[in-house]
Amino acid sequence: MNTVNTCVIGIDLGGTYIKGAALDPTGKILSEGKIETEVIQGQKRVLTNVTRLIHDLWKMSRVKSLCGVGLGVPGALDFKKGQIIESPNFPGWNDFPIQSAVQKAVDVPVIIENDANAAAMGERWVGAAQNLDNFLLITLGTGVGGGLVLGGKLWYGETGKGGEVGHMKITADGPRCGCGSTGCLEVYASSPALVRIAKEEWSRAHRIGAVPPMQWKTSSDLAEAAQRHDPVAEAVFGKMAHYLGIGIANVANLLDLNHFIISGGVSNAFHLFEQPLRQEVARYIFGMPPEEALRRIKIRRSLLGESAGMMGAAYLVLLASEGKTGSF
Ligand SMILES: [Zn+2]
Repeated sequence: MNTVNTCVIGIDLGGTYIKGAALDPTGKILSEGKIETEVIQGQKRVLTNVTRLIHDLWKMSRVKSLCGVGLGVPGALDFKKGQIIESPNFPGWNDFPIQSAVQKAVDVPVIIENDANAAAMGERWVGAAQNLDNFLLITLGTGVGGGLVLGGKLWYGETGKGGEVGHMKITADGPRCGCGSTGCLEVYASSPALVRIAKEEWSRAHRIGAVPPMQWKTSSDLAEAAQRHDPVAEAVFGKMAHYLGIGIANVANLLDLNHFIISGGVSNAFHLFEQPLRQEVARYIFGMPPEEALRRIKIRRSLLGESAGMMGAAYLVLLASEGKTGSF
């Protein structure tokens, strides 16, 4: 029997799946679930799915009172208006007041948060960043995102885009990025970027005009090949470590930050690039010898994996209800 009498629900609204959990105030999961988002069926269907999952999670938790719902959403959000500004996963949802729409449907306070920010807070609550007041979480997936925590709080910056490391410039004339710029971290460290680099590396290693193997479609295919010591796949992770190392060293130099958490799908291959990444970061750190940088700069893999977003969204509800974020 449950001894708690209140719970919070964290939802991770992804482009393919909606994941969620009901948690007690200590972070213990009381119920968990996942359903298809069905973006193609339109806004109304997605909202019905979110609402249904929230009700199911609450019912399964067997707790009487629901304190609030945290909603992690990919993309740029307007926190004041509770709206999506722009989300690549939800085309046509620009300016949609998602916070009030969900709140109306479930009749408890709802907060919204960018998915990478939510993941950072989840790791801080019960994951790889416990007890850390200053760190950057970097998500390496379809794109590259980030959640920056300074002084124990998310850093939003002037317009809410704080911590978006994916569009930090790594090279002056690199490949074109989805954001319109060139040479961003995202074109070197996202899953599609690794596949592109693999094709480039393969062509370089073979005759010009040769067709690269088609079995490499995602970063996990490459991880598998690198595990088998395929020289091209191994070179891809080495290259990615180089560019990601520059990005992390830039952030560390700017903020004097010592802790970095790597999450997202590509982090499943963390063991394949961890060592070269540490070496590269140490190479570019300002004001300390590389051996000291190797000791001081801690780069860890996410502990919560795909659950970080929903855990963090729930944690933000708890903080808000305690008056620590001013969101309610
Ligand atoms: Zn970019």
